[in-house]
Amino acid sequence: MILQGRAKYPVREAVLHTSATPGGWADGRSDEEILDSFWQWHVRENGWRKIGYHRILTPEGRVIHDNGRRLRSLYEVGAHVRERNRGTIGICLIPARTVPNVMKRGATFDDYYTPEQRQALTQYLRELAELTDLRWVTGHNDYAPKACPGFQVRSADWLPERAAA
Ligand SMILES: [Zn+2]
Repeated sequence: MILQGRAKYPVREAVLHTSATPGGWADGRSDEEILDSFWQWHVRENGWRKIGYHRILTPEGRVIHDNGRRLRSLYEVGAHVRERNRGTIGICLIPARTVPNVMKRGATFDDYYTPEQRQALTQYLRELAELTDLRWVTGHNDYAPKACPGFQVRSADWLPERAAA
């Protein structure tokens, strides 16, 4: 069980996002360089304390985390989805192909993200489910009128099978 913040909100949900960077943006960038860019957007430009997400997934399938140095630790409330930050984990997927601002009808994960990313996300959610009481995997677009992460996230597609007790 992971509890977030001083008020100890239990983590039960992962919310998927896109970085809205153009296709190819992450090519050749190191994790540190990627974190530098997010730091610029979230901290320098937005004035936040830290980057708003807990994890960033590259098109190559790397899960970026830094023990809460610049990203949020799992024990910290994030800043990624208005009114739903408490008890959620914000996972930002860097797209391999540009995600349009407006939701494309019938768009799927594979339109913007890579097989390596799918595998990394599946694996990461499995790990998260072992640490938390993960019940829902949702998208930013479930809570705000925006395309992010570019496709309709169905919990059943992503939620790991619960290990038999
Ligand atoms: Zn988002």
